[in-house]
Amino acid sequence: MEKPISVTRSNFNDWMVPVFAPANFIPVRGEGSRIWDQENKEYIDFAGGIAVNALGHAHPVAVNALTEQAKKLWHVGNGYTNEPVLRLAKQLTENTFADKVFFCNSGAEANEAALKLARKVGLDSGVAGKSGIVAFKNAFHGRTLFTVSAGGQPKYSQDFAPLPNGINHVAFNDLDAAKAVINEQTCAVIVEPIQGEGGVIPADIEFLKGLRALCDEFGALLIFDEVQTGVGRTGSLYAYMNTGVIPDVLTTAKALGGGFPVGAMLTTDKFALHFSVGTHGTTYGGNPLASAVAGAVFEFINTPEVLEGVKHRHQYFLDALNTLNAEHQIFEEIRGQGLLIGCVLQAEYAGKAKDITTWAGEEGLLALIAGPDVVRFTPSLIIPEQDIDEGIARLKRALAKLAK
Ligand SMILES: *Cc1c(COP(=O)(O)O)cnc(C)c1O
Repeated sequence: MEKPISVTRSNFNDWMVPVFAPANFIPVRGEGSRIWDQENKEYIDFAGGIAVNALGHAHPVAVNALTEQAKKLWHVGNGYTNEPVLRLAKQLTENTFADKVFFCNSGAEANEAALKLARKVGLDSGVAGKSGIVAFKNAFHGRTLFTVSAGGQPKYSQDFAPLPNGINHVAFNDLDAAKAVINEQTCAVIVEPIQGEGGVIPADIEFLKGLRALCDEFGALLIFDEVQTGVGRTGSLYAYMNTGVIPDVLTTAKALGGGFPVGAMLTTDKFALHFSVGTHGTTYGGNPLASAVAGAVFEFINTPEVLEGVKHRHQYFLDALNTLNAEHQIFEEIRGQGLLIGCVLQAEYAGKAKDITTWAGEEGLLALIAGPDVVRFTPSLIIPEQDIDEGIARLKRALAKLAK
């Protein structure tokens, strides 16, 4: 085999469209919750590829599913169905409220499908102008024009005007504000059970119950964006299961493929049947390779042991973070569920989250931000306790740079 082309971090600036500012090292290999860079420096992974690598890196269950399927059939296109996608659809429908699944490749595409479905259901209702979408400030739903417009952070959408219209944003966790804008013309309400990118902010249960009631009253679809909270992240298979509220549509991606790109929109028969042949589609969605990996990852995660393990690790993480914080008083609040944890910086450290993740990298730790003031951790759902300990020790060294 020919020697691979040698590349460095500075080549990113040479050849890549500059929408990212990646760390100054290049990861090349991973195992469990540890990765190594080009210099063979080791890192503990508290980022999990942004809540994606649910089983860590190179987990044998995922590797076997991928390599076995790779020898059989990669792709056929949706003129043919395939066995892995049907198995995955069975798993998802048997274990959730849903009867039907639409597969795609990302969270944005899953939300795009959900919003299009809601518009179609609204149209079919015969109620004039039933196309309004209610969404929340600070929300994140993806980067397609429709989903970025549904998201509640104008800085991500305003440069791309004209935007799709009919989307109304109100304050998150403010039921009265939602009540004021939900009416007969509303076709959907889209909400994250925990705002992830927006700062790891859990929705109040009463807020979600109130949205459910309003959607029922006005015949609007309640869409739960579980792209970040899904597939065991909170210690339940899906976060809605912790709330007593059942959505009409649920979107899932990130952890679903454990690192292989895949997304899905789940819904009930009642709504799914508003889509018919040709109303929506995809080339790659439900591809055998993605579906085989997702099926294996889903089966592994959807067990009492793994889900209980997430809850246990949550407490373990929180205890360690609280101990650290008792000493250093850096975080004003530590919040989240399961292994979606946000550490809100004290006012005096406002805006320093990004610096902290940079220093964490120097100390051998991958961590995330969720806005300028929140350090976020979304590690593997099966991260060993000793890796949590070691990661926290490295975090402590990184935080020491904050004082300076
Ligand atoms: C990451 C995320 C998305 C977008 O997913 P992509 O796979 O990046 O398109 C949508 N919604 C939520 C809640 C997310 O966390």
